[in-house]
Parts: sequence; C-alpha cells; structure tokens
Amino acid sequence: MKDYPVKKNQRIIVSIIDLTHEGMGVAKVDGYPLFIENSLPGEEVEVLVVKVGNKFGFAKVEKWLTESPDRQPIEHIDLLRTGIAPLSHLSYEKQLEFKQEQVQNVMKKIAKMPEVPVYETLGMDEPSGYRNKAQIPVRRVAGELTTGFYRKNSHQIIPIEDFYIQDPDIDKAIVTIRNILRRFDVRAYDEESHKGMLRHIIVRRGHYTHEIMVILVTRKEKFFKGELIAETINKEIPEVVSVIQNINEEKTNVILGKENRVLFGKDHMVDQLLGHTFRISPQSFYQVNTPQAEVLYQTAIDFADLKKSDVVIDAYSGIGTIGISLADKVKDVYGVEVTPEAIIDAQINAEKNHVENAHYQTGKAEVVMKKWHERGIKPTVIIVDPPRKGLAESFIQSAAEMSPEKVVYISCNPATLARDVKLFQELGYKTEKVQPVDLFPQSYHVETVTLLTKIENN
Ligand code: SAH
Repeated sequence: MKDYPVKKNQRIIVSIIDLTHEGMGVAKVDGYPLFIENSLPGEEVEVLVVKVGNKFGFAKVEKWLTESPDRQPIEHIDLLRTGIAPLSHLSYEKQLEFKQEQVQNVMKKIAKMPEVPVYETLGMDEPSGYRNKAQIPVRRVAGELTTGFYRKNSHQIIPIEDFYIQDPDIDKAIVTIRNILRRFDVRAYDEESHKGMLRHIIVRRGHYTHEIMVILVTRKEKFFKGELIAETINKEIPEVVSVIQNINEEKTNVILGKENRVLFGKDHMVDQLLGHTFRISPQSFYQVNTPQAEVLYQTAIDFADLKKSDVVIDAYSGIGTIGISLADKVKDVYGVEVTPEAIIDAQINAEKNHVENAHYQTGKAEVVMKKWHERGIKPTVIIVDPPRKGLAESFIQSAAEMSPEKVVYISCNPATLARDVKLFQELGYKTEKVQPVDLFPQSYHVETVTLLTKIENN
C-alpha cells in the first residue's frame, strides 16, 4: 500500500487554509489535501481522518482550537451533513464575498479577462426561508414513512422537518402530507428492491399568491385511494390548489417521470413576478427564489437598456418570465425552450398578461436559433438563461452571426459562463460587466448576469 502522510482514524491538528467552492475547508498535511466539513480558513482544528484516497482525503472536526471571526452559529448540523445549506456556518456577508471572488477567479483563469468588473453580489436581507419549492425524498425509516434529506454522497435519509432555507409554510405542508400518507398506510419507496409506492413529495408555493401545488411521485400508476389522499391534503392545507400524481416507474435518480395525473384541483399553479402573472406546470422550470429572481431579471432588463425598436430573443425561456416582463418595452420577443409544457405555459402566460408581441417555439435553442437566422430574424438583443452546462458552441456561432448589439447572459454556473464569453469574444463580443445575484443563500450556487456588447467593425 502507498504511504500517505495521514492514516484513517488518525487524530491530528491542522490549519484550514482554503475553502472549496462546495464549502469544504481545506488543510494540507505535507502537501496532501484534506477536505473538512464545517471548517473555515484561518481556523485551527483537531480532526479525525475518515477517508484516505489517492490524491486527497476527508476528515471530520472533533474540536475547534480557534474559530474564524466569519463563523456563524448553524441552525442544525444536518444542514451541512445533507448539503442542504453547505455554507450556513459562514456569515452571510462573507458568503456574498465568496461568491463574488469565485466569479472573479473564473473571469481571470478561464475567460482570461481579469479587467472585466465583477460587482458585489446582490444578497437578501433575510437569507433563509426563501425556497418556493421543495423536492423531498420519501423512504421507510424505523418502520415508518419518513421525509428528510439524503446524507451527502449517499442515499441514506436523515429525517428532517425544518429545512431552514425553504418557505416555512412548505416545511409545514410536508409534515402534514407525510402524516396523511402514514394514516393512509402508503408504502414508502425502497430503492434497493425497487418496491414500495411513494418516491418523492414535491411542494411549490407561490411567493405572492400563496397557491400550493403538491406533486406525489409514485412508482406505479395504480395509486390506491390517490384521489381521497389528495382531497384530504387540500382539506388540511387549504392553500393547496393542485395535487398531481407523477408516475416514475424507472430505477433512476431522476425525480420526475414523464406522466402526470391530476388528483385534485388544477393542473398548474399561479404566481407573480415583476407584477406579471405566471402559470407554472409540474414539469416547468421556475426560479426557486422569487424576490431574488426579480432582482436577477431586473438586472438583465437594465443591462439590456431596451428601446421600442428592439427585437429580443429570450433563449431558454422556460414559462416566459423574462420575455413577458420586458415585452412592453420592445417591438418583438422570440422565445425558445426545450420543454413542451413550459412553452404551453409561456404562450398562455403571454395571453394572460396581454402580451401580443411574444412568439414561442419549442425546441433546442441551438437548433431553433439557426432556423430563426435562416428565416432572417434580426434580434438586437439576445438574452440567454441556459442550465449549468452553458451554451452550445453552435448556439454562440448562430447568435454572433445574427449580429445583435447586445447579449445578456444569465448564468447559474460561472465556469461555463467564463468559457462561453471567451468564445463570444473571439466572435466580436466584448464582456462589459458581471453582476452576481444571490439566488441561493447558504448554498454554494452562484448566479450572475453578464452584459456583452458588439465590438464595432474596425
Ligand atoms: N428563463 C427561464 C428558465 C431558465 S432555466 C426562467 O428564468 O424561469 C433553463 C431552461 O432551459 C429550462 O426551462 C430548461 O428546460 C431549458 N433548456 C435546457 N436545455 C435547453 C436547450 N438545449 N434548448 C432550449 N431550452 C433548454
């Protein structure tokens, strides 16, 4: 066996020198990195080595010899153990700085644009209880159907009732639903045997409307007393306007299956954003932090500095939130989105908000962009809001060929943002500024809005 500077179960004293972007403290023993949960740079800690790998190991704090001034008391340790709130031991002010620095780093190292200003992260006054959506795994623990969250890097459930970052009314709803399911003797899903019924409970609550949608993800279509259970949920939680059964028969980590059945009420819920009304279907994406989503979209709209003659592409439009919020300022909006349910929502949302100049297309953004280009659509502003993997190269090619004056890039992953703005630069677009917005307090996720402008031909 190879010789490592530390051994499993060894107790040592180390100094924390860094914080990974996932919020783990880093110490080095003779150059060998140890990752340590619940530790912060500057702290001296006594740790127990729990895992020794080829290139790095993991350790657990047994005792703090010194504490960082940036440390704040945590609500409960399960928030770190499960990864629900992996930065909750770091003061909120420092979390915001940490996120700004991460963006600055990738702009330097990946994009090679150290000169681009990365502004201070826009945070929340009250950085807890913000999530409008919960996806809670259901398992059998000690003979009972139980809700909670997975221990990090495992599928072992830790029972939790207070999720801290979720809307407290959602936390309450989950406990009520869990108790109803117990009363009806519903069997919790068992991953190993692929038996049992209930896999996940998803709850969404409108920040402004307080409408609640409940999705019960089941392993089979046949859901004994499903309708009665749904009615009972509505009776005990009157805010519930929709209970959906989602059927997921696969052996998979993917939460949702393809098929939905309405068990009670509507097939969608409604919320508001920037004064507009939006319907949201079970399969559609909707930002989980409503007030901060408003800050994010408003920043994007400000960066776009729109005028009445503008033609805007809203790529990765979801249910149309961004395009519909700015439609009255411009001539036309073209939205593209890959999820068909979301496009139906977007079309209905445009109508509901009396928006007549927004046109939606289902499909992959990279494919539809090319078609729009061939059809001669000439956007002056392109707004993109892709998932973590960022933009396809072919999308960036088409976007640049369409020659808009501005591109506004909303990103949930600084690394792919930095990669993509580099390609935009090669195609004639200058990155002007980056504004981080904290949509996920207590977690390590970083959201940004970036403005790119066309470099005039010289
Ligand atoms: N702008 C919306 C949605 C952003 S999330 C909002 O703020 O609410 C990203 C969206 O991109 C999701 O709705 C997802 O379904 C969609 N998506 C993912 N890959 C895509 C692709 N290749 N082409 C178009 N849309 C895609």
